[in-house]
Amino acid sequence: MTSFEAVIGLEVHAQLLTASKIFCSCAVSVGGEPNTRTCPVCLGLPGALPVLNAEVVRLAVRAGLGTGCAIQPTSVFARKNYFYPDLPKGYQITQAELPICLDGQLTLDDGKVARIQRIHLEEDAGKSIHGDSGTRVDLNRAGTPLVEIVGHPDLRSADEAVAYLRELRGILVTLGVCDGNMEEGSLRCDANVSVRPLGQDAFGTRVEIKNMNSFRSVRDAIGYEIDRQVGLIADGARVVQETRLWNMDLARTESMRSKEEAADYRYFPDPDLPPLHLDPAWLAAQRADLPELPAARKARYQQALALDARTAAWLVEEPARAVAFDQAVAEAPALAAPFAAFLMTQVQAQLQRSARPWPELAAAMPALLATCGKWRGGQLSNKMLTELLQAAFADPARTLADALAHAAAQAGAVVSDDGALEPVLDGVLAQFPAEVAKYQAGQRQLTGFFVGQVMRALGGKADAKAITALLARKLGG
Ligand SMILES: [Zn+2]
Repeated sequence: MTSFEAVIGLEVHAQLLTASKIFCSCAVSVGGEPNTRTCPVCLGLPGALPVLNAEVVRLAVRAGLGTGCAIQPTSVFARKNYFYPDLPKGYQITQAELPICLDGQLTLDDGKVARIQRIHLEEDAGKSIHGDSGTRVDLNRAGTPLVEIVGHPDLRSADEAVAYLRELRGILVTLGVCDGNMEEGSLRCDANVSVRPLGQDAFGTRVEIKNMNSFRSVRDAIGYEIDRQVGLIADGARVVQETRLWNMDLARTESMRSKEEAADYRYFPDPDLPPLHLDPAWLAAQRADLPELPAARKARYQQALALDARTAAWLVEEPARAVAFDQAVAEAPALAAPFAAFLMTQVQAQLQRSARPWPELAAAMPALLATCGKWRGGQLSNKMLTELLQAAFADPARTLADALAHAAAQAGAVVSDDGALEPVLDGVLAQFPAEVAKYQAGQRQLTGFFVGQVMRALGGKADAKAITALLARKLGG
């Protein structure tokens, strides 16, 4: 049986974090009454002239610099002509032949380099709202600034596609280009997927997948589509070039339209917008203004703070989390590695079960660091720590920082004093003479058993290190 290889390229649309739209001063925001954030320009009224928002250019340039692109000194806006009810002008303003950024790349965690073909600026369309009484059009979104980041077909599996998207999202969020919210659609991803027999150079027929609004959807949809295409070819059928939508509920891609009937967009330069020229001095200043990017941060975590690769990648994946972590451990670098592991395991487990939003967690970083320090120092047992975190995360009346302090006060103190531990340990040793004999014969792994027995007798509120030390003194360790 022939083995197949998948060929995947992503087209990512990122909504730029500007206050106003790309060619007018209407506000960019979510929600509100339909058609309240509109003007003659974004309504596409005859005679209205677009004026380019300078902040849009700055953010697109940052996206290009962050992904290693060559920033183009001159780029040109073009009209992409098509008819759709949510596009009142009858064309979308985008960049076609001369985009603002060309030839970038992303390095994935496993060292693989995936090339970026281009980044271009464009305006978003409005929204059609389908209801019982018909379809209405809301143009609040029309003219929202976007960059489209087009990758080369360098990815070979669904996991690689997700890794690419995570890396790209981390860079865009770190640079303040986009908020990275896939559920709300401010970061949207389409995937071109084809398969070919291993060893063949020519590409197979490609299918474009749309409607994936989470990393999980991207992984599942691409995985499904690869299997579907391999299945078709194995059955002697052929893959049809088309656009397919990911149906998350049914976990399958479904045909939307055939690409063979796709429109000819008749691109031509927009006569209302002059070519965009970038000043070299301004561009140099933009280049000098870049913050530490996720890849550099990840390397620093591993080299300077001794974090393992997996923990470093997890922290960096959410830039707000990494920033809060950096601030918290600035004063206590020695605690960085255990604190990062603590966040990724114990705290992450609580977060998944609670409704606490991430920004609140960032605000509670110092309190979390203090809690971790107490646990590491033996002032909180494992059981006390779990109970404390559970209580704090489930406390809706307080901020997380306050809830942690409150839960810590409620938890009380561990028993670490030899005077209090000794009678309990003596009782345990008297109860298990056979284990004592084995321990004294050299089976030091029984330490955990004795510590566990003392811990149980004290309701989980005991200092494991103190018990271990006492045990060693009593039985000769
Ligand atoms: Zn407007």
